Amino acid sequence: MKFIKQECANFINLECLGVSVFGKKFREQGACFILEDKPCLYFKMCVLPLVEEKGYGDVIDQYEEIDKDSKSSKLKVRKCECGQDIAKSKQMCEKCRKIRRREAKTLNRDKSLSYSP
Ligand SMILES: [Zn+2]
Repeated sequence: MKFIKQECANFINLECLGVSVFGKKFREQGACFILEDKPCLYFKMCVLPLVEEKGYGDVIDQYEEIDKDSKSSKLKVRKCECGQDIAKSKQMCEKCRKIRRREAKTLNRDKSLSYSP
């Protein structure tokens, strides 16, 4: 993954430094976990969030292949049925929500029209 070499702060001189953002060691210095197809906590916490911003969306999928547990984690951005990224608490994006609301309104109006004398 080219992305790691560019974005992971721990990836120096083809090796992982193993130091977290707080200056604590989260692993021994050595070969990058990701490049060995192993889950990496630092990558998950600090690098993955940048991934989508920078337009490397497929890196998330690649990482999920390595770290199966991350699949259901909050890192994964929820997608609306139209493909728009949405907050996890939301059911659909703002646009679709408006469309839905308008449709519901129209339905209600039609109903009230047909019931009116
Ligand atoms: Zn939508």
